[in-house]
Amino acid sequence: MERANYDLVCIGGGGAAILAAIYASAAGISVALVTKDYPGFGNTRLAVGMTACPGIMPEDSAEHFIADLLRSGEGISEPAVVNSFVNEASRSAVALEKLGLLFQRSPDGSFPPARVEQIGGHSRPRSVANLGGGASLGVYLKSALWRYGVTVYSNTAALELIKTGNRVRGVLVLDLKERAFIGLKCNTVLIATGGCSALYYPHTTNSRGAVGDGLALAMKGEAVLWDMEQLQAIPFGITSPRSMVGALCGEPSTAGPAGRLLDGLGNILIDGGINKMTRAAVTRVMMSAIAAGRTDSNGGLQLDLKPNLNLPGGEKLYRAIRSSGIFDIVRTAYSSEAFRWEEPWSVMPTFHYQMGGIRVNMCGETGVDGLLAAGEVQAGLHGGNRLGSVALSEIYTAGAKIGKVLGNQSSFPGLNSQGDSEIEDAFRLQLRIWQEIVDGQGQHNPVSLRADLEECMWRLAGPVRDEASLLEALRIVDGLSARSRNLDINPEIKFNRQVLDAVELNLMIPAARAIVLSALERRESRGAHLRADYLKRDDRKYSCHTYVRMTENGSLGSGLTPPGS
Ligand SMILES: Cc1cc2nc3c(=O)[nH]c(=O)nc-3n(C[C@H](O)[C@H](O)[C@H](O)COP(=O)(O)OP(=O)(O)OC[C@H]3O[C@@H](n4cnc5c(N)ncnc54)[C@H](O)[C@@H]3O)c2cc1C
Repeated sequence: MERANYDLVCIGGGGAAILAAIYASAAGISVALVTKDYPGFGNTRLAVGMTACPGIMPEDSAEHFIADLLRSGEGISEPAVVNSFVNEASRSAVALEKLGLLFQRSPDGSFPPARVEQIGGHSRPRSVANLGGGASLGVYLKSALWRYGVTVYSNTAALELIKTGNRVRGVLVLDLKERAFIGLKCNTVLIATGGCSALYYPHTTNSRGAVGDGLALAMKGEAVLWDMEQLQAIPFGITSPRSMVGALCGEPSTAGPAGRLLDGLGNILIDGGINKMTRAAVTRVMMSAIAAGRTDSNGGLQLDLKPNLNLPGGEKLYRAIRSSGIFDIVRTAYSSEAFRWEEPWSVMPTFHYQMGGIRVNMCGETGVDGLLAAGEVQAGLHGGNRLGSVALSEIYTAGAKIGKVLGNQSSFPGLNSQGDSEIEDAFRLQLRIWQEIVDGQGQHNPVSLRADLEECMWRLAGPVRDEASLLEALRIVDGLSARSRNLDINPEIKFNRQVLDAVELNLMIPAARAIVLSALERRESRGAHLRADYLKRDDRKYSCHTYVRMTENGSLGSGLTPPGS
């Protein structure tokens, strides 16, 4: 097995991993970045490009932003994490500009007020779009990596953290280009693997690889997950044709002030004001109608934006929303009439963002020595609901903060040879386990097991759940878990997609189980978590986090834990 040593290994190729890597590298420590796709990819590259920058309009302030985040988090965001995030967030656009990203500015350097948007759930305008959206962000982040001298392992999947005692000592990774294992020894690992919404494929806006690998790595490394039941469905996803199901076609603000939502029978569910509602609130109304079977022929509901055109300034509003580029997909999926708001769109919620995740403190520390987490994979900021445009600010602030924390360590613990044999034993043990999985000559095709898992998650642990559906999901996940160790992998060495499916399947299963266990623990409806059998929010019992952690026998334990714990 090939070996290499670094001070820090960042797992992930999106904004959070790259930004942390370049800050840390600039501070003089040796950094490797491991990503199973390419640097600058992940969901970061898919982003529309809206970034929240508090205080750029006179009517806004850090206090307003904090109040919005705490309110939308529905009582389970961590105030200390929120405060520290907001303090940094106003600088996010400027910092991204330093990497080369372009925002439209007035000659005096301010943001033109017409370009500063008030997105659903924000009480003030504070969101700005960069030119070129996520694709351009990805390109600039990638080129920054080369400039800062970070060593990049692309098409390489992290499989397992290597620990001795309570300290992380390395990561076992698999180069997917050559099906070759590599042992990376290091002092610190940053998990920045993004979210897990693709566990619900095809009902997701996310990239195919966003299946929760980092959650599994963290749990196996003895970190704790919080609030994994809180997965945000964005209300407006495409319902047809089949190849486009789940693609993002808008969020509440896209509906404008007069847009209406109708069920499949033509009954009005929401008559205007959708643009001021949070994603969770709109999704709840939609899922109640869908669960009652009042859908259109595609299984979705009808979003009618035409009433906006009758408002004073309606045409201008149309042009402003259209400039985001989001309607192009509507023309491709539906028709030119739908693109022009003349016909309603068939829409269905689609999973978009993971609010829960790895428990961290304000600096991204997980409580396991040498293990940090940043970006969408971490918990604490969003609580029960993520406001639009906050995720991109978060990856900037999380990356910058962690990079600074690492860079400021005047005595970054050097790699020492103490405990080397223990580390080697741990690498050998994990190598054996993973070799059996990826060289499997067993019975099951990982692709079909994966499809079974995704279907089970959508049907039984999707936007609406109850005790019976969740227990059934747990039973199915357990069955898949047993089969996931008995795979039949074709012998092709180079870029064998089945190998990646096998790896992901084995990491998806613990992540899926964590979602189901957390959803069982929270016997109420709060934020993005809608329990059909407990429709009300219950502050007396559940103003707290759900948690999942791995127990000594390797099974997952779950429960409730107070805020700040
Ligand atoms: C369609 C869409 C539009 C969006 N628009 C906006 C927006 O306008 N504004 C906003 O604020 N937010 C938006 N978001 C959300 C935002 O883009 C993401 O939350 C954010 O980019 C996440 O960044 P990240 O670095 O945490 O993760 P990601 O960018 O998802 O990166 C995760 C990386 O980890 C890698 N990885 C995962 N597992 C492994 C493993 N085992 N080994 C190695 N590598 C691994 C992946 O390959 C990927 O490169 C949008 C999201 C989507 C899907």
